[in-house]
Amino acid sequence: MTDSPRVPIRTCIGCRERATRSELLRVVIGSDASGQPAACPDPRGTAPGRGAHLHPTTGCYELAVRRRAFSRALRAGEALSSTPVAEHLAAQT
Ligand SMILES: [Zn+2]
Repeated sequence: MTDSPRVPIRTCIGCRERATRSELLRVVIGSDASGQPAACPDPRGTAPGRGAHLHPTTGCYELAVRRRAFSRALRAGEALSSTPVAEHLAAQT
């Protein structure tokens, strides 16, 4: 356990484990390259609106996709694309 309670703790929508906010990638609703609503990375954590948090790893991303966690966490329709998040993760490695 940490003894610094001021560090915000969030739950990863992939593996459901808790982590400090700085360990997780914030995801918000935006639009993809074709203008469709999509889950978009918000690495600086500054975008307004509802956000979800995810470990910036392919494993947690795939878990989140499989359980449709992006749509649920962002209160979006079932068809919410998460391609921008995948591209963000791919660009990091
Ligand atoms: Zn995770």
